[in-house]
Amino acid sequence: MDRLIVANWKQNPSTLADALTLAAGAAGLNVPAGVTVVVAPPLPYVASIGQANPFLVLGAQDLSLLPPGAHTGEVGADILKDLGVRYVIVGHSERRALGEMDGNVAAKAQAAVESGITPIVCVGEPRGVREQGTEAVKMFLTSQLASVPDGADVVVAYEPIWAIGSGTADDPASAADIARWIAGLLEPRVKSVRVLYGGSATPENASAFLSDPAIGGLLVGGASLDAVKFGAIVNAT
Ligand code: PEP
Repeated sequence: MDRLIVANWKQNPSTLADALTLAAGAAGLNVPAGVTVVVAPPLPYVASIGQANPFLVLGAQDLSLLPPGAHTGEVGADILKDLGVRYVIVGHSERRALGEMDGNVAAKAQAAVESGITPIVCVGEPRGVREQGTEAVKMFLTSQLASVPDGADVVVAYEPIWAIGSGTADDPASAADIARWIAGLLEPRVKSVRVLYGGSATPENASAFLSDPAIGGLLVGGASLDAVKFGAIVNAT
């Protein structure tokens, strides 16, 4: 299975012109064998980016858990699929902070799978839980991991909340141990699982995370907005 390097642009950039420039940078990267680059722009840019870069693997940052119908403001898996989206992030901690619950994350991941889109289910503990030790972290993650659909090809992004956007990444060996544990927990009930690490990934630390085969790639926020840094991360694999 290829390693995935996923660019999560969040609510950036603020113009379609800048988004197209950033996407062209990602599409033009010399990607090493065995690596797949996924770009998850803000939803309104997805169609234009897809048209301009037919070989770029598209992701989305969220989806509706509802089926097509009278749901004002919602964008469901069927629409994403039609736009060419192949991966969708669900349960990002920034969405959980806005009230997203595990039940919704599970329904969204299931909706993605049913439309043929691979969910990237985000899990991760707050600092207070980490300070209680590894068993507390595992207990916290176990309840979040119940949202991962059975019998599907899934991606889990392990993103300790305190590492996201903070400039302080997790210890690579510790993240790899958690990634191994997540895969072991899910393997009996999913078709396949890849575990990514996310949280202040940079060109400087990417190789340390990717050197352990338990880490199947990276979910990159801030550094994905800089074409040079993102290219260096992709080539660190
Ligand atoms: C993220 O938001 O998923 C993320 C990993 O962000 P950053 O790389 O900026 O920490």
